[in-house]
Amino acid sequence: MILDLFRLDGKTALVTGATRGIGLGIATALAEAGARVIMSSRVPKPDVVQAMKDKGFQVDYLQADVSKPAEVRHLVRDAAAITGRLDILVNNAGVAQHGQTHDFTEEFYRKVMDINLDSVFYACQAALEPMRRQGGGVMLNIGSISGLISNVPQPQAAYNASKAGVHMLTKSIASDYAADNIRVNAIAPGYIATDMTAGGYANPDWAPVWRAMTPMPKVGTPEDIGAAALYLCSPASGYVTGEVLVIDGGYVTR
Ligand code: NDP
Repeated sequence: MILDLFRLDGKTALVTGATRGIGLGIATALAEAGARVIMSSRVPKPDVVQAMKDKGFQVDYLQADVSKPAEVRHLVRDAAAITGRLDILVNNAGVAQHGQTHDFTEEFYRKVMDINLDSVFYACQAALEPMRRQGGGVMLNIGSISGLISNVPQPQAAYNASKAGVHMLTKSIASDYAADNIRVNAIAPGYIATDMTAGGYANPDWAPVWRAMTPMPKVGTPEDIGAAALYLCSPASGYVTGEVLVIDGGYVTR
């Protein structure tokens, strides 16, 4: 049955930024498909984790600040220790920091790069050990349409560059480790209704532009991304690697 290819029974998945927004949408989709999901975030949210358990999902929680390389390595190691394997790694944690390049501080630049790009490298690197040992695995990185086009009207050169870097890390690691049966893909979301975009949709200078640039007359949801994540993390996408899947209501067509 083709639908069986979307099942994740017996798989262990680690999702960063998993207690809200897109990460929660992804964690929910993977858990619904039968995976044991290790949810991670910087700020512990026991109520969110308990709500997942109340739905009958197999979930665990690990706290980590992914801006710190050592914490990223420990997170991946500790996640793999829970069941003795790590089948799926989803690098979703991210921050948006707006500002004109001419007065963007070094502190903000480092924050964006540390969280959005460097953490993805360190997490993928750490996941290679268990995935190679167990004979394969799947990595999914959350990029952005902002890694494909220079988004407007908000000024965010560092964010755009960090997400372009995520896309190329994805392709490079996919190519380098395909022979190890490790698939690596990315999703490039357009505008999705989360805490990250709430300020922008409340901004009268930004929201009309975002809407005008998006052909479909709706805002994306974490479920839209969760469904695509399930495809890319499951055997349904067994011949897909190095792909950046755009989910944006048609934004990049304009
Ligand atoms: P939210 O702001 O709603 O959530 C961000 C998540 O990242 C939170 O779970 C947060 O954890 C986590 N996080 C941030 N900094 C750290 C850190 N230092 N250590 C650990 N976790 C951290 O964002 P979204 O859900 O909207 O975004 C998720 C991903 O999708 C991001 O990579 C974002 O760039 C990308 N994206 C989002 C789009 C959108 O329209 N929303 C569009 C394109 C890409 P905590 O809850 O503990 O703070």
